Amino acid sequence: MQMTFYLKNDADTQSIGEKLSELAQPGDIFILTGELGAGKTTFSKGFAKGLGITQMIKSPTYTLIREYDSGRLPLYHMDVYRLEGAGDDLGLEEYLDGEGVCLIEWGELIKDTMDNEFIELILHKTPEDTRFLTVEHDGATERYNQINALMTTLEKD
Ligand code: ADP
Ligand code: MG
Repeated sequence: MQMTFYLKNDADTQSIGEKLSELAQPGDIFILTGELGAGKTTFSKGFAKGLGITQMIKSPTYTLIREYDSGRLPLYHMDVYRLEGAGDDLGLEEYLDGEGVCLIEWGELIKDTMDNEFIELILHKTPEDTRFLTVEHDGATERYNQINALMTTLEKD
């Protein structure tokens, strides 16, 4: 069974990011999948806020990685859209195997080359310009089950 979560506006996307961040543990990897404008960076802002990071979160489209160390866990916010197989040069492994949490925009482009377990958060844009979030996983079963449980609780509210 796959859980789908409706996000009616920008605030909803930030809010689910904020709530899911509470489940994050050292070494977790969250891949953010969805077309340009799907809400990946919006989700990341909420996620960072939930970790207690107060800095402004900017899209790492050109820097590829931004690290934030002021929260409950280090956050490695990445956008690998422009990576094109240059992952080794970037020292991506160090982040993937690090003690912080990885949030990887466009991570679907590199997921097949990764040895790490991950959660994949897929954002779908609707014709009405709202969003649906679905969650998949490769390993990371415990975290996946926690996310599903949390989302079930939130849907009942
Ligand atoms: P991405 O990083 O995937 O390219 P952004 O996070 O920059 O996308 O979001 C693009 C736009 O979508 C922003 O203007 C944001 O406010 C808007 N947005 C985010 N979530 C929603 C939502 N659930 N409903 C409507 N608009 C949203
Ligand atoms: Mg973005």
